[in-house]
Amino acid sequence: MEKNNRAVVVFSGGQDSTTCLFWAMERFEHVELVTFDYNQRHQEEIIVAKEIAEEQGLKHHILDMALLNQLAPNALTRKDIDVDHGEEGELPSTFVPGRNLLFLSFAAILAKQIDAKHIITGVCETDFSGYPDCRDIFVKSLNVTLNLSMDDEFVLHTPLMWLDKAQTWELADELDVFDYIKERTLTCYNGVRGSGCGECPACDLRQKGLEKFIGKRNEGNK
Ligand SMILES: [Zn+2]
Repeated sequence: MEKNNRAVVVFSGGQDSTTCLFWAMERFEHVELVTFDYNQRHQEEIIVAKEIAEEQGLKHHILDMALLNQLAPNALTRKDIDVDHGEEGELPSTFVPGRNLLFLSFAAILAKQIDAKHIITGVCETDFSGYPDCRDIFVKSLNVTLNLSMDDEFVLHTPLMWLDKAQTWELADELDVFDYIKERTLTCYNGVRGSGCGECPACDLRQKGLEKFIGKRNEGNK
């Protein structure tokens, strides 16, 4: 199979990366998934990712990134640190500096191994959470660096970069996987699948987007 038809999706089992998975499956003949295990607060995330990969019949690579916890203890990896939004202008407590830099670099090394040209990530600037390595300019810059570092022609795709959460739901709907994403994915910081705990910042963002999308869809059906 041609390299051009092969893709790797950075996959966490959440709403965004699962939407990216279906986006990729529509475009590329061969899709493989990569999930990073860094002792997430909820091991449930890995379980959900595994289940979705299996259901979709996709090869799933789970890479051990426990060293991330060693470098940057924070709310996503340590149960004794609370998740909060952070003050205006500050980074939230969920921030692991350089996380996407590392994830995308490892994804590219994997892509090189399996002879895939395309790498898909669900990062997004719109619901900007203060992560500098989720910005478009960073992804574009890294794309150049990765190509130079491995003498290759990877293409980093960010289908969600300019979408807000409501538009991400809309994309799931267009891909015909709205219900699947709604029920099967895990976004919640407290490890509750589907609509989640309803109390954490991740649930709040997901729920608000969902309501906005449903409102807009009902408007359109009138
Ligand atoms: Zn939650």
